[in-house]
Amino acid sequence: MWKEIDAAPADAILGLTEAFKSDSNPKKVNLGVGVFKDDQGTTPILKCIKAAEKKLVETESTKGYLPISGSPAYAANVQKLLFGADSEVIASGRAATIHSPGGTGALRVGADLLKKFRPDATLWVSTPTWANHKGIFTAAGFGIGDYPYYDPQTKGVDFEGMLAALENVPAGDIVLMHVCCHNPTGVDLVGGQWDQVVEVAKAKGWMPFLDFAYQGFGDGVEEDRAAVEKFAAAGIDFFVASSFSKNLGLYNERTGALTVVSPTAAESAVAMSHIKTTIRVNYSNPPAHGGLAASMVLDDSALYDQWIGEVAEMRDRIRNMRALLVDGLVARGVGQDFSFIKEQRGMFSFSGLSNEVVAWLKENKAIYIVGGGRINVAGLTTANIGYVCDAIAEALK
Ligand code: PLP
Repeated sequence: MWKEIDAAPADAILGLTEAFKSDSNPKKVNLGVGVFKDDQGTTPILKCIKAAEKKLVETESTKGYLPISGSPAYAANVQKLLFGADSEVIASGRAATIHSPGGTGALRVGADLLKKFRPDATLWVSTPTWANHKGIFTAAGFGIGDYPYYDPQTKGVDFEGMLAALENVPAGDIVLMHVCCHNPTGVDLVGGQWDQVVEVAKAKGWMPFLDFAYQGFGDGVEEDRAAVEKFAAAGIDFFVASSFSKNLGLYNERTGALTVVSPTAAESAVAMSHIKTTIRVNYSNPPAHGGLAASMVLDDSALYDQWIGEVAEMRDRIRNMRALLVDGLVARGVGQDFSFIKEQRGMFSFSGLSNEVVAWLKENKAIYIVGGGRINVAGLTTANIGYVCDAIAEALK
């Protein structure tokens, strides 16, 4: 079957990791793939998760299937995290949440669901966006449109351009937005700007699809959901794809959620029925372990507090590395202004390094950065920051 068929290209970011693994340079640094690393360069299992897993293994009595939508306790905990425990959305029962295999699974289930009822819609994404957004929605059969987002001049959001484009999105189309810690740029909308976006969504009748993969990596778990609360208060239909890959470190447990919010509880029940039929013919029902462990952390006040502390530690470590990188470049006499890196949020930084510099760093210094200059700041450690600053300073000479 495969004789006449060309191999598919390797995934750009995962391909970079393969190249990194086979590089024999002892000083090599991977600033490519988007996973959190601690100062020892490892991706740790959070202590709150270890404790929950121990309890889980001791108390679980079956590996029987979960419901199609996953554990109901998990869904309830996800909703509290997304909207706040006292949210009107929860009290009125107008949110339908399912446990999906990661944030990616949530995006795909959402895309398949939308394709059934909005077959001719276009999916609008920010320029730039996480590469897989286009892939997922293209695979689900959607055409893709782009709205302006990152302004290389100001190193911030081109909010005027974004809003003007969103004003022209036809009713029924879908607009994907990153709630916080935008991947790959690290620049986010601020509160008042979200109010304006919500107003446009309401007035124009397009469907907001919020990608919330980094809750807690911006300002804090509660602070970061401000935009979600604004959409909820508007009483309109919208989707949220959320993920515990990063904030609970559950990458390989595939622990995410799709939440479909509707104006009324009756509509929400209809939405849930169709979400379930979409899942049934795809993966049938979700894996249990990650969701049950996450739910245990969110349900137990001591574990929850421990988690909040561990998220703060991850967030602070990344902020600290941003400062060390910027100050390290200044100390080496680099003329180019990199101070904006300190202002960016989340794990990523659009560094402003050109593709030539990125290629040079890989060839000569074994420093791996994604084309376009996106740096995973969490790949920096107190042990490698000096080496990385020296290398960038040399490259920019
Ligand atoms: N959305 C964005 C913007 C991401 O960066 C990621 C992961 O890198 C995801 C969604 C999906 O995460 P996962 O499927 O690993 O939970």
